[in-house]
Amino acid sequence: MERIKGMRFFDPHIHMTSRTTDDYQALADAGVVAIIEPAFWLGQPRTGVDTFRDYFNSLIGWERFRSSQFGIKHYCTIGLNSKEANNERLAEAVMEILPSFLYKEGVVGVGEIGFDDQTPAEEKYYRAQLELAKEAGLPVQIHTPHRDKKKGTQRSMDIALEHGLDPRMIIVDHNNEETVKEVLDRGFWAAFTIYPFTKMGNERMVEIVKQYGSERIMVNSAADWGISDPLAVPKTAALMHESGIDLNDIHLVTFRNAIAAFAQSGQIDEADFDTVKDIDQSLKFNGSTVLRGGQQPRIDKQSNIIR
Ligand SMILES: [Zn+2]
Repeated sequence: MERIKGMRFFDPHIHMTSRTTDDYQALADAGVVAIIEPAFWLGQPRTGVDTFRDYFNSLIGWERFRSSQFGIKHYCTIGLNSKEANNERLAEAVMEILPSFLYKEGVVGVGEIGFDDQTPAEEKYYRAQLELAKEAGLPVQIHTPHRDKKKGTQRSMDIALEHGLDPRMIIVDHNNEETVKEVLDRGFWAAFTIYPFTKMGNERMVEIVKQYGSERIMVNSAADWGISDPLAVPKTAALMHESGIDLNDIHLVTFRNAIAAFAQSGQIDEADFDTVKDIDQSLKFNGSTVLRGGQQPRIDKQSNIIR
């Protein structure tokens, strides 16, 4: 990690709700200055629309605050995940509340949406959410299925084009060697999730950048409640550097490209990456703090208060 000291990173797909303050600290120490947290499946099926509402509110509220306490700018994408699209009664209710969240500050896209089992219900709500994105002028963050990935990825792109969306507004996520060429050839953004032990390790990512270059490619950790690595982006940058990949290409795939894609929402101001660094852990969010009884808040030197 020494090699990448001083570099800044942007992780466009990380589920911090499932992570600890140690993870936030490690991200900040490794140079991650901003992140996007997509709305997703929490591992256990939700039974009512109110838990979706509370979850969406936490993505734009508490989690953003928690991130700020470690100097990291937090954005999110809001959507109905593909797995829970299969509960149609619930899906209908979630569709009704989505518009009220999509226009909130810091919401940089509709996501993560798309296919899981590639069922008719998933397709129905994927299409409906593409329409919402089009109406809101927001980028779309597509979750591609882990089973039958190639077909699912193609279908996701075909359907998006059918709805008249510009491929430049669409980030196709969880790519691999089998899908990357077509995604890039058709003009979409190609995101790669680095998964430990399975699917996409970062040595394979190095080879992909060597083969396809850095245009419209971005790397993320998708770290969540499962086995995952929140430092996947800086670690992959370090490995790329070690493998002789040009610093400018590393900068593009671990920082700049994701910002370019999601800034189309009009919600990303890079100046915020610096102002959020002014940490005051004595701050509270609705009366709650990240500190536990007796802990001393960290207040940065930029603050005028001296203690
Ligand atoms: Zn995810």
